[in-house]
Amino acid sequence: QVKAQRGNAVCFFDPRMQVALSARARLESDLQDALREGQFLLHLQPQFTRDGAVVGVEALLRWQHPERGLVLPAEFIGVAEDSELIVPLGRWVLASACELLARWQASPRLRELSLSVNVSARQFRSPDFVEQLSQLLLRSGAPAHRLELELTESLVLEDVEDSIAKMHQLRTKGVRFAVDDFGTGYSSLAYLTRLPLHRLKIDRTFVHHLGESRSDDVVVQTILGMARNLDLEVVAEGVETEEQRSFLALHGCDVYQGYLLAHPMPVEALQARYGDAPQAQPTAAH
Ligand code: C2E
Ligand code: MG
Ligand code: MG
Ligand code: MG
Repeated sequence: QVKAQRGNAVCFFDPRMQVALSARARLESDLQDALREGQFLLHLQPQFTRDGAVVGVEALLRWQHPERGLVLPAEFIGVAEDSELIVPLGRWVLASACELLARWQASPRLRELSLSVNVSARQFRSPDFVEQLSQLLLRSGAPAHRLELELTESLVLEDVEDSIAKMHQLRTKGVRFAVDDFGTGYSSLAYLTRLPLHRLKIDRTFVHHLGESRSDDVVVQTILGMARNLDLEVVAEGVETEEQRSFLALHGCDVYQGYLLAHPMPVEALQARYGDAPQAQPTAAH
């Protein structure tokens, strides 16, 4: 057991805590290596209109671990967010998103899609966030109006003035904004009208119990009604059943995302499924 002593303060470290701490530290350094070695990739999950047309995709981070295989964000995003690592990692995500959007310009179908990217608090708060993203957009040639940043309520509310300022600066360039996991946060609705928002994403925990839980039905109906009044689009995430989809459609939901319609998939798979019919390739002569 380790004992640290400074002045009168005596502090005992529980060995179990030390195990947990070193696991975290280890993961943090693994993530650093992973970023350097190019082990991160994006999966894309399509978003559909009520009529089933694809209108956009959400970029979801994945870690291709050499031994563990494909690792989901739940396993590592928290540790990245608690360290400075989320800043370069988040920048990598944005750079990759911009490259995709730029590349899709050449495709009549893909260039119509919006691309949504999740942004973490520490990343958004960094003083040069706007400048960095502006540079990425400029250098890649990506159409800024196809890029949507997903911010959570708690991110926005932890510093409303900073959030509004940054959102307006990026909005001027064409970037759009969605509130992610809507309904799970502080539910302070006053701020909504002050933000240059395009969409609300209803959290999937509400969607999950639609038709079974009277209270979740009411929450979802209320969000949809409010969004209509505020002239915001609503995206429902985690749509898994036909019942959920028809409830949402009945109450005027605009955009649908979830396993019922499509799972997140590798970029190549999405391009093959929703892109243009592949051109006949000339057979390679050897
Ligand atoms: P999120 O932004 O709310 O993303 C939606 C999550 O729901 C994704 O999980 C997606 O795979 C999952 N999902 C989609 N449809 C369904 C469904 O029908 N049922 C269920 N049960 N789940 C569904 P994923 O990819 O594991 O991502 C989890 C979270 O990690 C995201 O939640 C987001 O907060 C965070 N995240 C993902 N990528 C990034 C990133 O690039 N940067 C940051 N900062 N956070 C990210
Ligand atoms: Mg999201
Ligand atoms: Mg969400
Ligand atoms: Mg989330």
